[in-house]
Amino acid sequence: MREGKLFIISGPSGTGKGTICKRLVAMDPDITLSVSVTTRSPREGEAHGREYFFISREEYLQLLSDGGLLEHASVYGKTLYGTPREPVVKWLARGRDVILEIDVQGAFQVRQNYPECILIFILPPSMEELEARIIGRGSETEESLTARLAEAEKEIELADQYDYQVVNGDLEEAVRQVYGIITEERNKE
Ligand code: 5GP
Repeated sequence: MREGKLFIISGPSGTGKGTICKRLVAMDPDITLSVSVTTRSPREGEAHGREYFFISREEYLQLLSDGGLLEHASVYGKTLYGTPREPVVKWLARGRDVILEIDVQGAFQVRQNYPECILIFILPPSMEELEARIIGRGSETEESLTARLAEAEKEIELADQYDYQVVNGDLEEAVRQVYGIITEERNKE
């Protein structure tokens, strides 16, 4: 049986990468989305085990020291995020394609261990549009909005180190393009 392929999708907060990933998983039963652990609190509408596993800092540090994370990063200062290693390794071995929706620091860590992974960066149509989307989501304080925009600018500077860049101006078009990349990579063998 062929090993699954590992896709990493990154992009600044508010680019719609989460929506794109959910759509891809709904479209194709051979795609699995990895659920990360995080030390941040759930936002309204988020469920434990669906968007993230929301864990304490102590649990996170234990998992990390046990070697349970494939990659990990501290985003926006003190919030910790990481990809549980075991499920990803298992899914790939079973031939399922896996998507990690993670930040750029995590993406480069994974690339060191899995050089064959495919990196896709989702870009906003403009910084103005990105700011409007984050404000529209209504979940950020002024301080975290500023932090997210500053982080976005830094991340976008690294987009050209990704294998593919997709601009999410129109959601349907962006989903179509990312799915096109996945299909093309699957067929490469
Ligand atoms: P949010 O708090 O808005 O859900 O996510 C903030 C950022 O953390 C996003 O850029 C997201 O891609 C990134 N992120 C989520 N999970 C992980 C993970 O497991 N590892 C890494 N490195 N970044 C993650």
